[in-house]
Amino acid sequence: MAGSWINGAPVVTGGATHQVINPATGQAVAEYAAATPADVDTAVAAARAALPEWATATPADRSSVLFKLAKLTGDAADDLVAEEVSQTGKPVRLASEFDVPGSVDNIDFFAGAARHLEGKATAEYSPDHTSSIRREPVGVVGTITPWNYPLQMAVWKVIPALAAGCSVVIKPCELTPLTTLTLARLAKEAGLPDGVLNVVTGLGSDVGSALAGHRDVDVVTFTGSTPVGRKVMAAAAAHGHRVQLELGGKAPFVVFDDADLDAAIQGAAAGALINTGQDCTAAARAIVARELYDDFVAGVAEVFSKVVVGDPEDPDTDLGPLISMAHRAKVAGMVERAPGQGGRIVCGGKAPDRPGSFYLPTVIADVDESSEVYRDEIFGPVLTVRPFTDDDDAIRQANDTDYGLAASAWTRDVYRAQRASREIKAGCVWINDHIPIISEMPHGGVGASGFGKDMSDYSFEEYLTIKHVMSDLTGVADKDWHRIIFTKR
Ligand code: NAD
Repeated sequence: MAGSWINGAPVVTGGATHQVINPATGQAVAEYAAATPADVDTAVAAARAALPEWATATPADRSSVLFKLAKLTGDAADDLVAEEVSQTGKPVRLASEFDVPGSVDNIDFFAGAARHLEGKATAEYSPDHTSSIRREPVGVVGTITPWNYPLQMAVWKVIPALAAGCSVVIKPCELTPLTTLTLARLAKEAGLPDGVLNVVTGLGSDVGSALAGHRDVDVVTFTGSTPVGRKVMAAAAAHGHRVQLELGGKAPFVVFDDADLDAAIQGAAAGALINTGQDCTAAARAIVARELYDDFVAGVAEVFSKVVVGDPEDPDTDLGPLISMAHRAKVAGMVERAPGQGGRIVCGGKAPDRPGSFYLPTVIADVDESSEVYRDEIFGPVLTVRPFTDDDDAIRQANDTDYGLAASAWTRDVYRAQRASREIKAGCVWINDHIPIISEMPHGGVGASGFGKDMSDYSFEEYLTIKHVMSDLTGVADKDWHRIIFTKR
């Protein structure tokens, strides 16, 4: 199959052949030719050429294309679900009830939001001038996305940029290019002019870095790991280009002693195991009041033991494989080292006896604050648990991380909930829940989790520049302020 989508058409690019592997079976489901840095040049040139027409299209015209795209994406749901399940191994229930409808809703939201973008007709801040604010598309956006939610991450990055009037070149993860290529094809069908959305596929080390460091890209947006995000930022800095970074997470899940224990147990299991734990906001560090600690650990382990691990295409499956054997080896290595660092493996801690890169849901209790499983992103179905002594200790532990993407607090005390939402450093704090997202509200972190926002009107800040227009009101040649420059005329 063609490996890229440039200037409104599929292109067989000049890079090495890659296989897309279904991690549940280890079988290849597709093959494609990767792009080369020269193909990145072609794609960026196409985006640059298409920019003026799209940037000056009326909001109504842009909105109409995006509404059609939302409709076509919904109509193609079955195909998109099948592609997403085969390339990621995620359970079909997750793909069909979360990934695809969430993507459709996000496109729908930005189709509407495109018509609410406005500058400000402001006022006179000097006696002789009127000021106004224009918000203009920033230009060509280069974006790089990960493998965990390939369609949703592409939508979160591409759609607000298109709604704002930018043109885009996206590089999906080399493991999971299928749904991003389908999105580009559907966008053309929806009436998006050629060149406004381009897809280049291939490895981060050549295609990704060529895009991140491209001279003719105006802003680089990235979703992925913290170390790679920093490389992307350094590449963009070579030209002084803007970046937006959605990076890793290590979300605390704080259970106070007045919490509804059953709700916290169910919430921790769902929050830790969504997408086989390969979710940047997944509940990773449960921090639990000493009084509830033993019951919480036993309760989560019991729910974990009932999770159905199996064929992602079976609607009864709860947990699919990890993305690859290499990633499973990384997760397994971290779990295996945990007992040597003070952790107690309560359940799981190994791969099930079946083909594919599966790993059993794992609870590690009593983890030491300095241990690797407590500090580093595992990105697998693993929940660590630690007790806390009082509210100050709970907040301290929640913030004892470089990351700051998401967190949750479980309590029936409104004052504790307020304190947690105020004092936990994260881009999102849930109260008595963990994971739900919504198109109208922003997503994005602080600290090692990056900066800038996806989703919601806030994401437009990444794709618009602010221009001040200051108009003279006097019509006189000899302006009063010229006296500062020349005394005699
Ligand atoms: P990754 O950082 O390994 O790869 C992400 C993308 O970057 C891929 O497309 C990859 O090909 C590309 N890349 C790799 N090296 C590059 C380079 N030198 N220059 C340019 N591009 C390069 O991440 P991943 O393993 O695909 O995804 C998992 C990570 O993504 C986790 O850390 C997770 O927390 C994070 N994530 C964050 C969010 C968020 O919203 N904050 C959402 C999803 C995933």
